[in-house]
Amino acid sequence: MENLSRRKFIKQGGIMASVFVLPLSFHSILNKKEMSDKKHFDVIIIGGSYSGLAAAMALGRALRKVLIIDNEKPCNRQTPHSHNFLTQDGKAPKEIASLAKQQVSMYDTVVFHNNLATNASKTENGFEVQTSSGDIFKSKKLIFATGIKDEMPNIKGFSECWGISVLHCPYCHGYEVRNETTGILGNGEYGFEFSKLISNWSKDLTLFTNGKSTLTSEQAAELERHHIKTVEKEIEELEHINGQLQNIIFKDGSKKSLKVIYTRLPFKQHCLIPEHLGCELTEDGYIKIDTSHKTTINDIFACGDNVTRMRTVANAVSMGTTTGMMINKELIEEKFTDKK
Ligand SMILES: Cc1cc2nc3c(=O)[nH]c(=O)nc-3n(C[C@H](O)[C@H](O)[C@H](O)COP(=O)(O)OP(=O)(O)OC[C@H]3O[C@@H](n4cnc5c(N)ncnc54)[C@H](O)[C@@H]3O)c2cc1C
Repeated sequence: MENLSRRKFIKQGGIMASVFVLPLSFHSILNKKEMSDKKHFDVIIIGGSYSGLAAAMALGRALRKVLIIDNEKPCNRQTPHSHNFLTQDGKAPKEIASLAKQQVSMYDTVVFHNNLATNASKTENGFEVQTSSGDIFKSKKLIFATGIKDEMPNIKGFSECWGISVLHCPYCHGYEVRNETTGILGNGEYGFEFSKLISNWSKDLTLFTNGKSTLTSEQAAELERHHIKTVEKEIEELEHINGQLQNIIFKDGSKKSLKVIYTRLPFKQHCLIPEHLGCELTEDGYIKIDTSHKTTINDIFACGDNVTRMRTVANAVSMGTTTGMMINKELIEEKFTDKK
């Protein structure tokens, strides 16, 4: 009692008294309001990795009530080290995300909900999002920062090597495996262009077409002129130790020792909710957005890997920040013009 100020004492006493005096229904109204406040947000961000967290930071700092729903399955989770992002070069992906989350958590305007968003629907004033826990949250605007899902080919050992010695991007990992015995898994125009790109990092380069080559004769000649070999044999298995590639085993039983393979995989949107809400996709399968990251549906925005093939942490963060700023601007405009 000593440390309790008079004003605080009176306030607490008042609250205590109200417990006995006020009718029960009034308390349940209060509880309901508090609970509904906890479920109502200016913006719900589905996907709380680099892009979603960056959007949350911009919005949280703009005093917007933000909910991040995330089930912690970022696309780079198997990679031991992430590169090419200033101040975080060489750190584990999880370490970068954890620090980001810790910094975003400092803002009392931002709330986290670790779960899978299973459904979302349009309401009169915005959106309702449901999660696998059965919770339902409401917001005026939605951001999808949900990334993409790489589709692994049916080659034994491939998925174990993904992000460790089977790589998607030389800017992220090329420096670490420079001048090593390197393979490209690809064919046709894409195989040709990717081989040209990777020749910047290694002169010991082979294009594996995993079946008959579909290179034009000009492309094949051009690769040969630059000492890039082409192998058409079908691949059975990637032999590896803890994801570190040792050999490619071919279906004919032969093998080739190799340090690293680059390839670009087909992908699906990680989250199908934007499509269910009517957001259009591009021909390549990305969510269609305008320059303010707005999708083709009003009040729904998207950022990060789900909208671009320029797939880097730096780019995901940059897009998230921009999206957050754009949504805040839109909310201000709506308030000034009494639109909502
Ligand atoms: C193997 C690999 C290695 C890479 N290495 C590098 C590197 O070294 N340097 C670099 O700059 N970039 C690298 N990248 C690219 C980089 O990882 C991505 O550009 C970046 O992760 C994209 O961030 P994002 O927030 O858009 O998506 P992601 O990081 O993929 O995160 C999407 C988040 O959304 C969540 N989510 C999706 N759907 C739902 C849902 N319905 N409900 C709740 N949550 C949901 C997921 O669980 C996930 O947490 C690498 C990529 C891969 C695949």
